[in-house]
Amino acid sequence: MASVSYPYDAPVSQMLFDRASAVTPGGVNSPVRAFRAVGGTPRFMVSGTGPYLTDADGREYVDLVCSWGPMILGHSHPEVIAAVQQAVARGTSFGTPGEGEVALAEEIVSRVEPVEQVRLVSSGTEATMSAIRLARGFTGRAKVIKFAGCYHGHVDALLAAAGSGVATFGLPDTPGVTGAQAGDTIVLPYNDLEAVHAAFHAHPGEIACVITEASPGNMGVVPPLPGFNEGLKTACAQNGALFISDEVMTGFRVSKAGWYGIDGVKPDLMTFGKVMGGGFPAAAFGGRADVMAQLAPAGPVYQAGTLSGNPVATAAGLAQLRLLDDAAYEKVDAVAAEIGSAVTEALTKAGVAHRLQTSGNMFSVFFTEAQVTDYEKARSQEAFRFNAFFHSMLAQGVYLPPSAFESWFVSTSHDAAALERIAVALPAAARAAAEATEGEK
Ligand code: PLP
Repeated sequence: MASVSYPYDAPVSQMLFDRASAVTPGGVNSPVRAFRAVGGTPRFMVSGTGPYLTDADGREYVDLVCSWGPMILGHSHPEVIAAVQQAVARGTSFGTPGEGEVALAEEIVSRVEPVEQVRLVSSGTEATMSAIRLARGFTGRAKVIKFAGCYHGHVDALLAAAGSGVATFGLPDTPGVTGAQAGDTIVLPYNDLEAVHAAFHAHPGEIACVITEASPGNMGVVPPLPGFNEGLKTACAQNGALFISDEVMTGFRVSKAGWYGIDGVKPDLMTFGKVMGGGFPAAAFGGRADVMAQLAPAGPVYQAGTLSGNPVATAAGLAQLRLLDDAAYEKVDAVAAEIGSAVTEALTKAGVAHRLQTSGNMFSVFFTEAQVTDYEKARSQEAFRFNAFFHSMLAQGVYLPPSAFESWFVSTSHDAAALERIAVALPAAARAAAEATEGEK
């Protein structure tokens, strides 16, 4: 029986983690970075170039996290860096309107047809929080339907049965969110339209909106079953509620127009983040002009931000989006397909029960044979096999998301050499997954 090796041979990262833990809760500024699910020393990164990250111990990794989605052109893309340098040279924040934010808004509106108007914010959390407030203000209703395993940032009302870090740690909820804050949230199983119809039936005239990840990536990759998003849209329209599609993860990543570009189901409101910020804190929500017109100062629903539309962030986002043409998406799709089939081949050869699930160029591996269509099924996988797989890949210079419940992300910069390193690492990682046993440390 092979034991999972936790390579503690990352002395500088370990020293930094010790320092960090003294001054920051858990040593990190976002929980999943702490490696709690997989064990071992979180790697402190010092630089990134193309598909590679270099840690504080001088080790290089092929990056399959891409900052959890944003770095779709790879790290330090020269044109993005140049745009940022030019913006910085002009000043970093003015607290006034500026042309860069207009240009970014125009780019979003031109790419995503349902977005007639858009408001820029600084994080995906802010985007979903504001979209929910707007939906409540617009409809005059309080209740929100969300789906178990979908993560929409750490918005109080949406931290019920959420995915991402909440899935990683198996927390059903979080202390600090009061009954009042979550009391208007109705959590339903993902991909279950019957449950949605039943909820509308049980709460006539009370439901402001349904919010869903356009194609979920926060419980691992669990795409909507055919007709699910369309069914949500119809149910909302029939019941006077708004349909909010959260494209913070999928937006501008899985196609030019995100998941909307793939399934064509038109939401009332949409949320964006990650790719549109080019590695900087920029996010957005937008949609129907009549709904957006309710936002201050045009309308009564208040929403604001000191750094909203920040000139450096908007310059980075705009530079990145302008480079994302059809050829770029074809490249990212091809890279994802190649890695996905190499993973499947290695795990199959090693006799490991698994299922590769994809949403365009987002993908993840579940250590189970059955199709995963909801959070309950995602949680029933043998996640301990992922941990062994993860550490073997890490030791061989491939950086995977440190959790079995996260999407893997690739970029246009993942070239033949990067793919070769992954291919070389996979057989041993697959064997480690095969030999892993539950509860092993
Ligand atoms: N919505 C989705 C679908 C996400 O994946 C995330 C983050 O992973 C968020 C919202 C929150 O975004 P942020 O982390 O920028 O607050």
